[in-house]
Amino acid sequence: MSDDSSYLFYQSRNPRPFLDYGEGIYLFDEAGNRYIDGSSGAMVSNIGHSNPRVLAKIKAQMDKATFGYRLHFRTHPSEDLAAKTVAMTPDGLDRVFFVSGGSEAVESAVKLARQFALTQGQDARHKVISRFPSYHGCTFGALDLTGYDPLREPFAPMMEGMPKVAAPATYLDRDNLSEEARGIKYADLLRDKILAEGPETVLAFIMEPVGGASTGALVAPDSYYGRIREICDEFGVLLIYDEVMTGAGRTGKFLAAEHWGITPDIVAMSKGFGAGYAPLGAIVAGARLVEPVLDAGGFLHGFTYAGNPLACSAGLAVLEEMDDQGMIENAARMGEVLMVQLRALMDRYPFIGDVRGKGLLTAFEFVSDRETMEPLPPELDAHARLVELAYERGLIIYSRRTRGGMTGDHFLIAPPLIITEQQIDELMVILRDALDAFAQ
Ligand code: PMP
Repeated sequence: MSDDSSYLFYQSRNPRPFLDYGEGIYLFDEAGNRYIDGSSGAMVSNIGHSNPRVLAKIKAQMDKATFGYRLHFRTHPSEDLAAKTVAMTPDGLDRVFFVSGGSEAVESAVKLARQFALTQGQDARHKVISRFPSYHGCTFGALDLTGYDPLREPFAPMMEGMPKVAAPATYLDRDNLSEEARGIKYADLLRDKILAEGPETVLAFIMEPVGGASTGALVAPDSYYGRIREICDEFGVLLIYDEVMTGAGRTGKFLAAEHWGITPDIVAMSKGFGAGYAPLGAIVAGARLVEPVLDAGGFLHGFTYAGNPLACSAGLAVLEEMDDQGMIENAARMGEVLMVQLRALMDRYPFIGDVRGKGLLTAFEFVSDRETMEPLPPELDAHARLVELAYERGLIIYSRRTRGGMTGDHFLIAPPLIITEQQIDELMVILRDALDAFAQ
């Protein structure tokens, strides 16, 4: 079927070939072409495609019951997935609420925070401070938290404006600060903002521990994370980690928060949590927050498909497989291998200005000048061109252009966590070939 005869629409018309099947880190189209899934879709397929043990478990659940409404029945898949999730997350996060996607997870986190504040008599706390650039989803609430005006402005007025603070973009800083001092400097922007807004009105702060689509795998200086936690504690502001992209092993730990020993108050997850086997997400929070809400009459929130047994059986099988096969440890090891190879690209291509990331959430960024980190001119359409050159050669990568005017064309390389060293070499051969073609 040609594109003209498609009834479907997404962001734009879709000229891509039809997908046939997936296997491990590879996807195949109907013409038999093979692609390395170098971005796990949109950082989703963490355990790789068509994992036979996961498929067998989903099929077994299908034979029993595909749906039982959560208010009518408890189900073993949902209870077991909640238990497995708690076992894999840091202590202090021991209550789970299921959703079907990342935006739903973010909305749920904010609503839980709000209801908890009400149980504490803190009715004035309603503002959620987020960062720019940032991405938290496309529903109105999550979009209101997203620090990227081109996505927000067409829909204004939305909800009540949510305050924003700058996310660390340390490679753009031209100061003489040490890494540590710079981390503190950025964290203290939150402190200033809370004071300016009036601490008694601030409900929560939400951040991606490692930037995803918004900043391209940007990691803050280590000092940032602890300082943010301290500031939130100082003012009684709840700390929400949006780990929709970074969670489920992507950065070499189950949660990225573990890299800095941080326990957020609420964590939002999706993407790799269902790993492409089911539309699935979750928020995880401490009993400290959840129990008072339940005592006060219950969480006034829920989606019809939330916690359905089929999606939860998929999620459970995904986490078991991730754990049993040591995929998170592999992500940490392979992330280092990949990072060395990506850094080496800077010797060969002067237009690569920065390489960064954590675990298997890595990125490189194009610039016209490494000194000033000036982006390439938008008319070059560099992000789309490189993606096409790689796609033609059988490599899928994920790119974004200038976010909030702060970063230029960046490319996320985030293959499934099962990738081997040999497969990284294979990926890099295609990537270098695409970059050579781009450079011409
Ligand atoms: N938060 C983050 C950090 C994300 O990367 C995304 C998706 N890119 C979302 C939220 C929204 O997730 P979804 O598209 O599943 O609603």
